[in-house]
Amino acid sequence: MDQPKQHQSRADILTFPHMTRKDEQLLQTVLNNMSQGVLMFDSETRLTFCNQRYLELYGLSSEIVKPGCHLRDLLRHRIELGNFSGDADEYVARLKSGIAEGKTFNNVVNLPDGRAFSVVNKPIAGGGWLATHEDVTERQRSEDRIAHMARHDALTDLPNRMLLLEQLNHEIKRVKRGECLAVLCLDLDQFKSVNDALGHHIGDELLKLVGERLRGCTRELDVVARMGGDEFAIIMTQMEQAADAATLSKRIRDSVIKPYQVEGHQIVTDISIGISVAPMDAVESDELLRNADMALYDAKADGRGTFRFFEPEMNTRMKVRRELEMDLRKALATEQFELYYQPLVVLETNEVNGFEALLRWNHPARGMVSPADFIPIAEETGLIVPLGEWVLKAACNEAVHWPEHIKVAVNLSPAQLNCRNLVSMVTSALNETGMPPHKLQLEITETVLLQNTFTTLATLHQLRKMGVQIALDDFGTGYSSLSYLRSFPFDKIKIDRSFIQDLSNGAEPLAIVNAVAGLAKCLNMTSTAEGVETQQQMDVLQAIGCTEMQGYLFSHARPANEIRQFFQRKIDKAGAA
Ligand code: C2E
Ligand code: CA
Ligand code: CA
Repeated sequence: MDQPKQHQSRADILTFPHMTRKDEQLLQTVLNNMSQGVLMFDSETRLTFCNQRYLELYGLSSEIVKPGCHLRDLLRHRIELGNFSGDADEYVARLKSGIAEGKTFNNVVNLPDGRAFSVVNKPIAGGGWLATHEDVTERQRSEDRIAHMARHDALTDLPNRMLLLEQLNHEIKRVKRGECLAVLCLDLDQFKSVNDALGHHIGDELLKLVGERLRGCTRELDVVARMGGDEFAIIMTQMEQAADAATLSKRIRDSVIKPYQVEGHQIVTDISIGISVAPMDAVESDELLRNADMALYDAKADGRGTFRFFEPEMNTRMKVRRELEMDLRKALATEQFELYYQPLVVLETNEVNGFEALLRWNHPARGMVSPADFIPIAEETGLIVPLGEWVLKAACNEAVHWPEHIKVAVNLSPAQLNCRNLVSMVTSALNETGMPPHKLQLEITETVLLQNTFTTLATLHQLRKMGVQIALDDFGTGYSSLSYLRSFPFDKIKIDRSFIQDLSNGAEPLAIVNAVAGLAKCLNMTSTAEGVETQQQMDVLQAIGCTEMQGYLFSHARPANEIRQFFQRKIDKAGAA
């Protein structure tokens, strides 16, 4: 563009020496109808050109803002109108020296009236510069909205994982300067059942309310984030001591467990919390989060509704667990499982009338792994379903060779009962092996009935109608056992071994076992004492009138071939007699 002629009479008049009059008019029209304000200044910081749009954008007077007007006076006019904040002299000096060095200024300026302007000042030939002003308020708002959405959870509007990590990285710098902070991982207990029972919509509302309560428990400078699902995380900053995180956790729990009202439903929930403290546990954000998560896992395993600080041993435990989980997947395919059988003995006659099938995992490197160690993992990963099916088939396949009156008891996990096809799985196990249903007993725990859904009970009734017996396992370890006895007509109650072990410790355990055995008799159920280890315990149980016993006193669980030999010996003995 050619050098403009200076000091025109009207601000928006600009002439270009090599243009025809028509071209020039066209250019004027274009400039005045642009959405941007356009100005030109000479090397003396005086205005040489300004379009109409510029005047409109700031509501300026064409009496003041016209060719020849000094930038300083223009700015003072804007200050009077309240749309320039800053020192006019300083601005002019900075701009002038920058332009002289050939520098382009490109800024987004937030005006006192809330609008945002993109302002570009670009040097042009002759020492002056061209300025464009564009209202970018809307664009910036939508950019802000998008930026907000990327860093916040849509449901609760709390920061999401991304923002939490950003903030954590930022806060960790202060830790390196000597402060301490805590990361809390939180997880609602039984949230899934709220969702399942009342629907996602109610679940969502609950999450929002929980989010609000968490915010209410924390300080302004703490970060409360939703990590997804029913998981939240908190960064507690500027802490004085680790105990502060425990205090916060207690406060959170007290607040979260108060009942919620959602669309006419009263909802109660609890929360588990894992805590990791910087710099003691870690000084990297990833590690802090991971540690807090591990502590949360422990808190959950510890009965929920509680909090745990991270401990280094959790790391090792988690590693072992993960390895077991991977090995477990392989184990089914490579036939590392085996069933052992523990005899059930009739107390009156001292005769064996059945065996409980107990799963054994012969791990290639670890040796025998206890079911207490791998069944919970199999349950969590869902592997219990195929594993349980294998157990059932293997047990039936074995027991079908035993004498007619000898039963086999198989343990069922709650997850198997939630599985829709349990009845057909049992049916096909019986059919495939040719096992009569009355030889099969299924052991379930109270946890199964805790989810006392219609389908669970219907499944149990169906199985019982087929002739399969149902036993209530580990009786007494739950919390409202007696009411469960009413909900289903069990064939057998297995009194948990903790009561049997306590038999010699005073009158109370004795009274309990006595009462349970009596109750079973009244309800026409068998009562089985688990974990009988001493003759003394056996004598007591016999005196009480308990029906059956199972325990090391008589025998540990034994491999299938030993059970076969046991029967063979009996047959041989009978033959010899
Ligand atoms: P459970 O159903 O209560 O089984 C009885 C457990 O007590 C067995 O442990 C058994 O070996 C042990 N036991 C028997 N007599 C005595 C005794 O006199 N003293 C002591 N201290 N213990 C005794 P095991 O085989 O380690 O099984 C532990 C648990 O693992 C079982 O408890 C059961 O809940 C679960 N489990 C075992 N096999 C299976 C299975 O095939 N499926 C499912 N779902 N769970 C299983
Ligand atoms: Ca059992
Ligand atoms: Ca048991």
